Parts: sequence; C-alpha cells; structure tokens
Amino acid sequence: MNRRNLLINGLRWASLVPVTAAAMSQAPTPASPFVTHQLKPNIYWIEGGGGNSTVIVGTNGVIVVDAKTTKAGGQELLDDITKITPKPVTTVILTHSDGDHVNGLAAFPAGLKVIAHENNKKEQETALAAGGRGAPPADHLPTQVTTKNKETLTIDGEKLELFHWAPAHTSGDLIVYLPNEKIVATGDIIATSNPYPRIHDEKHGSTEGWITTAKEMAALDADTFVPGHGSIQTKADIQKRIADAEARRAQVKEMVAQGKSLDEIKGALGDNDKLNYKSWIEVCYEELAKK
Ligand SMILES: [Zn+2]
Repeated sequence: MNRRNLLINGLRWASLVPVTAAAMSQAPTPASPFVTHQLKPNIYWIEGGGGNSTVIVGTNGVIVVDAKTTKAGGQELLDDITKITPKPVTTVILTHSDGDHVNGLAAFPAGLKVIAHENNKKEQETALAAGGRGAPPADHLPTQVTTKNKETLTIDGEKLELFHWAPAHTSGDLIVYLPNEKIVATGDIIATSNPYPRIHDEKHGSTEGWITTAKEMAALDADTFVPGHGSIQTKADIQKRIADAEARRAQVKEMVAQGKSLDEIKGALGDNDKLNYKSWIEVCYEELAKK
C-alpha cells in the first residue's frame, strides 16, 4: 500500500470508528447466498449473509452459534433451520460482538437465551449507546455471560465447552467446542478472506492474545473448524495460519527493535492488502512499538 492509500485508509478509519464501530464490522457482504452444510447427523453450518452460523439440533430445541448481519438475514437463517428441523431455536451463542455475527438476532423470537462473553456484552452496550446503523438489537442483548477461561454446559442434551483464553479478534471472543463431535466454531479468530488475522484494536483485541487463542484452539481434540468466514478448516489449516501469523509478528518485532518505521516495515514485508481496517502488520507494529 503506498503512502497515499495509507493516508486515505487512515482517514477513513479515523472518521468512521468513533461514529459506528459496529457498522464497520458488518463489511463482509451480507447479500452472499445462504447454503446449509451438514457436518454430523445433528450438526450443520450455514454460510451466507455475513458470518457463518453453526446449528446444533438438540433433544427439544436448537442451539445456534452466531446470527448473521441483518434482520432479513437472521430471518433467512431461521427459515433455513426450519428446513432441517421443526424444533424451535432456544439458544444463541455469540462468538464475538461484530454486527455481522450479532445483528440478525433482531429476527429471533423474544425470550431467547443469548450466551456471550462478558466483554462481548460490554462491547454491544457501548455500540448501542453510540447508536447508528451498526448498533445491535437492543432487545436481544446477551442474557447469560461467561466470565471464565472455560465453561462447560449441557444444553438440550448437547455437551458444549466455551473457551476464552485472551483478548484476540476482540476483547470478548468465545470459542465454541463440541467435544463429542470434535467440532470447533472459531468465530473470527479464523476468517479465510484474508491470509492474516484481523484484530479489532478499537475493541481491545490483541495480536499476542490471538496467537495464544489460536494455539489453544488448535490443541483441542478436534478435526473440524467452522471459521467465522470461509469454508471448513482442518487442524493443519489452522496450524499453518498460526505459523504464518507468528512468523510475520516476529519479523515486525525484529524490525521495530532495529528502529524501522511502520512504512518501512510494510514496504519490506509487502503489506499490499487493500483493507478498510488495520492489517496484522499494522496492529503488531502498534503493539510492539509501544513496548
Ligand atoms: Zn468479526
């Protein structure tokens, strides 16, 4: 990215973030088509309309991980679930607070259980107070928050483990692990639209925390990872992403120690991503140059 683009991106970032941080998070094409994929007899993932959703059909009801971007998208998700099972959706688990995973909740029934990390709830409350197009639906804020590194739940006969090791993509990430099926819903810890992880520094995410989180996640006894965006990932795919991100962070660290500027580092490492948000190199630099 040349200096002019960098400046334009910097201005775009600076002018939008204070107004509607959540709206920025909605970026991935909400109009993308919905497709249902079956993973196990009672487990599916549904792509399209923003972030991926994982659907778990329990004994009496349905558990959904992430709820799409808009009310219309949330409704389409619910309609697609009725094609899988007549059981009602009773529980939603949110992997993080970004609008493309949360705001479809507007279409969901009242009285729903919504589980999220406590920092996710705080981020949603902040976005709600700021208002604007990207604000989450006020009547579907999390009803149950997790506060520990690991919480084990059995919902409708399905065993789930919810993990939060460190601030990573955001300060309120939650990894959803189904130990009996060896499946992980990663949220945007993994999003294959970009080779490197995205860190929301405005939501107090962290590159170091991302590495910790991704490594812990890869250490789970799992073989199928449903990413926040993109197609199913294997454990080897996850390990490759970790190795790439870690190597790049180490290069930035070395160049920061040599006194190199961000522009010099980006030039040397070839940071040409046309992103409307900060790249992995940029967030690594900001964290490491501060130390
Ligand atoms: Zn996200």
